[in-house]
Formats: sequence, structure tokens, C-alpha cells
Amino acid sequence: MSKTEFKIEGEEQTVRFGTLMSELCVPYAVNNSKSVLIFLEGDLGAGKTTFSRGFIEGCGYKDIVRSPTYTLVEPYDFDTYSIYHFDLYRLLDPEELEYMGIRDYFERTSVCLIEWPDKAQGLLPEADIRIALSYSQNSRTVVIESSVLAQDELDRIATFFC
Ligand code: ADP
Ligand code: MG
Repeated sequence: MSKTEFKIEGEEQTVRFGTLMSELCVPYAVNNSKSVLIFLEGDLGAGKTTFSRGFIEGCGYKDIVRSPTYTLVEPYDFDTYSIYHFDLYRLLDPEELEYMGIRDYFERTSVCLIEWPDKAQGLLPEADIRIALSYSQNSRTVVIESSVLAQDELDRIATFFC
């Protein structure tokens, strides 16, 4: 398990962090024809959606990235993969996930960005990457833990924000 921790200051850096992660995770998903699950943990306002926007824009998406607060999931289809952005904050009944056919999302070549994964405890596979964002006024502390990215890849991201 590789792990790193660093600080990011301001919204721009959170967007940049998302883009940097997309540059690592998308090739991994495509080369392995696999779904990469990223759990985004942290309180309201920690920057989970901001990170996701940077990630999705990093894939070349030019339109507005909307928070899937009411729809639970927002899909973004690209030529050889998809990004599925989940926000499970409003999930009331885990059965909703079954109705959505959540399993299918995990069987495609994709990256699944999942805000509030705790709300679906027991229904999601293990995370490939966990990103915990913790709030302070003008910055955020980031902890990344991953079973699929190498330590030196995470170290490079951390160095970027030093
Ligand atoms: P969440 O999805 O976790 O509830 P959002 O991304 O919607 O959080 O909101 C985060 C808020 O914090 C936004 O107002 C954004 O501008 C701000 N923000 C994001 N990243 C940082 C950062 N690194 N430092 C300071 N403020 C940030
Ligand atoms: Mg959010």
C-alpha cells in the first residue's frame, strides 16, 4: 500500500490535484481494461467536488462539471473509457444503488469518483485509491492511500505542491 500526505492551498490547487490524478489513473484503467475506484472522503466543503472537476476537466471535458447531488451519479463518456462521478450524500436506501445498476459501472473501463462512499457501506467493492481531504480555512490536507499507484507516483504528486 502506498501512501502520501501534503497540503494544498486554494481552489486552483485542488483542481490541479484532480488533473494530476487523472493523468495517473486514466492510463491505468485503460491499460488494464479495469474500473478504478477512488473514494473521496472528507466533510462538506472539503473539496471533493472541486477535485472531481479537476479530474474530469483533465480528461478533456470542456463543459460545466455538475455536482451529482440529486442524480447520485453523473456519467462522462470518452472514446476508450468513462468517468462516473458519484455523490452518495443523499442516498437514503442502499437499494437505490441496485436500481441504478451500480455493478455495471464497476465492470467497465472507467474511473469511479465516489463522494461519501460511507453511505453505501458494504455495497461498494474495495477502493483502489482513498483520498481524504480535511478542511482548514485556506488550505486542505490531503492523504492518499493506494493499492494501484506506486509510491514514487504519489511522491511526485506531493512534491508538486511543496
Ligand atoms: P465538497 O464536495 O467536499 O463538499 P466542494 O468541492 O464542493 O466540497 O467545495 C469546497 C470549497 O472549498 C469550495 O468553495 C472551494 O472553492 C474551496 N476549496 C477547494 N479546495 C480548496 C483548498 N485547497 N484551499 C482552500 N479552499 C478550497
Ligand atoms: Mg461535493
